[in-house]
Amino acid sequence: MAEPRQTTERDTLRIYGMSFDFPASQKLEFDPKFTREEGSVAVKSPTKSVVFVTWGELQRVVKKLPTPKEHSRYSMERAAKNSRGRLNQVEQREVRINGHPAAYSRVEVEVPRGMLGPQRPKQEIVSVHLHCDRTSRYFVIYTSSDWGGPGAKGRDDVFRVVTETFRCH
Ligand SMILES: [Zn+2]
Repeated sequence: MAEPRQTTERDTLRIYGMSFDFPASQKLEFDPKFTREEGSVAVKSPTKSVVFVTWGELQRVVKKLPTPKEHSRYSMERAAKNSRGRLNQVEQREVRINGHPAAYSRVEVEVPRGMLGPQRPKQEIVSVHLHCDRTSRYFVIYTSSDWGGPGAKGRDDVFRVVTETFRCH
């Protein structure tokens, strides 16, 4: 498949046993308190489109959310609740990332009028949740139309590059 020009040059982030590629035009912003066990990194473009990669200890979620699918649903419901919105599941499917079953999800959160201004009553969130038993961590890769607006230039490309090249162990 042909790729847009802005994503052809890539860098690779490799840290704490995980790695992923991202377009060289993007910059990385780390949560300053990140550790091997827990943290996040934002992949940002000059036009503000942002893809987040977050991770945490697997044992903290598997009791309540034993599968990536359940974990994904929980996260999206929480996101909707945080913006007092209503959740519409647009797409949910199982994918494989680095050999693990992972949950891909695309949702829309309908935000009540006036909460975020008239221009964006709907927030779109695209995410992938995966559980890595080899490193005892979970990973969530996500992006939202809150950053850069719906269909922000390059946002979906960055998300695709990060998820397609993601290695957790
Ligand atoms: Zn893994």
